[in-house]
Amino acid sequence: GTVVKYVREENRLKAKGGYFYSILDVNLSSSSAQSSPVSADFALRYVGGRGWGARFTWDSLKSGLSAYDPRNLLAIAPGPLNGLYIPGSGKTSFSCISPASGLYADSNMGGSFGTELRQAGWDALRIVGRADQLSYIWIEDESVEIRSAEHLRGAGATTTEVELKKDLGADVRVAAIGPAGEKGVVFATVNTDWGRNAGRTGMGAVLGSKNLKAIAIRGTKDLPVHDVDRLTSVSEKAYSYLNSHRLMDIWHRQGLMTVIDYANTVGFLPTYNFRDAHFDQAEKINGDIMERVFKIGNSACFACPMCCGNVSLVRSGTWAGHACEGPEYETAAMFGSNLGVSDFSFIVAANAKCDELGIDTISSSNLIGVIIEALEKGLINAADVGVEVSWGDEKGIMNLLEMIASRSGIGDIIAGGSKGILSKWPQLSRITLQVKGLEQSAYDSRVSLCMALAYGTCDIGAHHNRAWPISKELEMGKDWGVEEKVDLVLYHQSIRPLFDMLGVCRLPWIELGIDENLYAEMYSAVTGIEQALQDLLNRSKAIYDLTRSISVRLGVRRRDDYAPPRTFKDPIQTGPFAGRKADMSLYEQLLDKYYEKRGWNRQTGIPERETLIKDGLADVAEELYKKIEPLGGG
Ligand code: SF4
Repeated sequence: GTVVKYVREENRLKAKGGYFYSILDVNLSSSSAQSSPVSADFALRYVGGRGWGARFTWDSLKSGLSAYDPRNLLAIAPGPLNGLYIPGSGKTSFSCISPASGLYADSNMGGSFGTELRQAGWDALRIVGRADQLSYIWIEDESVEIRSAEHLRGAGATTTEVELKKDLGADVRVAAIGPAGEKGVVFATVNTDWGRNAGRTGMGAVLGSKNLKAIAIRGTKDLPVHDVDRLTSVSEKAYSYLNSHRLMDIWHRQGLMTVIDYANTVGFLPTYNFRDAHFDQAEKINGDIMERVFKIGNSACFACPMCCGNVSLVRSGTWAGHACEGPEYETAAMFGSNLGVSDFSFIVAANAKCDELGIDTISSSNLIGVIIEALEKGLINAADVGVEVSWGDEKGIMNLLEMIASRSGIGDIIAGGSKGILSKWPQLSRITLQVKGLEQSAYDSRVSLCMALAYGTCDIGAHHNRAWPISKELEMGKDWGVEEKVDLVLYHQSIRPLFDMLGVCRLPWIELGIDENLYAEMYSAVTGIEQALQDLLNRSKAIYDLTRSISVRLGVRRRDDYAPPRTFKDPIQTGPFAGRKADMSLYEQLLDKYYEKRGWNRQTGIPERETLIKDGLADVAEELYKKIEPLGGG
């Protein structure tokens, strides 16, 4: 391996409390590393996490830049609250151009990996280039080494973590890819802490394209905080609110798995490739069965009192011996009802398999559902697929997961994601649940037009992480008009990404209703820069305009902002919600209002020049309009 030793510059921000160290740049093509300062202006404008990632991505955009281009800059940025005495402060963002969508994407990882990066003295890691052999980056404070990982070629993501810890020490934090990342599966994950993933949008495939198997870190530094007493007092308020919450007990016992029953009751549980929204065997895949039969422990991200990770083990039957960190709602719903599976032990096994192969549980199960429905309807035939698979066919589904990761047979087509499937079989567009090339998460939106709008306008594709307005919309019922619905989605699209900018988990807010103003106080205490929640929300809104600008430069327009066709065309088939579908003309009204409120052009969906200038992104406006005018703004 190449050793790149250097001394970190003394460039902490003295003027404003010195809350950042510096950024580490690694170029895998030249096996070199260097550090860059974080300017006070940059830190304030882009906050951290996904905000930094978006700006780095914008700055690195070149014409024709694609996900697997060695120049595609992968940014790993934890955020200013990460690693501190703050509930759920172990979150870190991975940002780059996604191989699934070809657009800007970020994916958020829990655990403690980002915290270790900060403790090593780095507030972000930026990686470009491509190593000449399979490698891993080893960061020990200011020492950075690029080492061969050829001995780990083909190894699972969780196995790689275990192996590197054997070599480097048990206290090291590792983020690793599995064989799927090495093979360029466009929904490959990066895995840490035995099952916490940067799961969506194919970050693992981008690492793979750089010949980067893993990143291992040991950090020994304290993190800088401007006013420790103030932070402690706000954090104690937050911890005591959470610890005394009436739902904390069920949260510890089942985490997000409680959502299965709720989804089944109100009509958004994905069932048979989102054909239905209610599963008559939901009680076999819900939180109760997990807790009673499979659960052996809890796991938590850094400093989190909620410990939402369920550790599950299959003790008997076909899948005996399989264990995983999980499952959580998304995985249970997508590998359960969405594939007609009513056997929880299979869900545990599939979760464990996905973690080891390094593939996203949501995208993989979504796409397998498409193949099963296509076969059932005769839209493709068994000879096209080459293997047998049907609803509830556990062995067939498991086999497909292996085939995807090794890109063998039909696995090679599925590995290209929705875009890969649709370019091979365009006739499947009606039954493929995706937006912008990213497969829809585990929430049917036919009972919630706000959720449909959230999917359609999510900057990374049909993901729920930017907005999850379902319960509020259902609660408000018919009382709400277009304006209120759009406002709800917009608020979510500012507050939820803000958590990803700060480096903290959104679940204490969305699940247990913690006062979001506390986070602004924490930010002020940490940085010494007084910010109200609205100030930070304005920054988050600006970042949404920035990620939109990146994607506009890469071709996105209004036509790309629609929820999947099934949402509008195919009514829910059976169960208590039969007949429900979303109304396209109402959706168009929502979309018009959404653009108007965002300051995006109604016809094109391009952020107006004035909007970007108001965001403090005048340079982005200038560059964007230079680039898109030849395209006629279309
Ligand atoms: Fe991690 Fe769950 Fe805590 Fe969020 S609530 S920080 S995902 S353990």
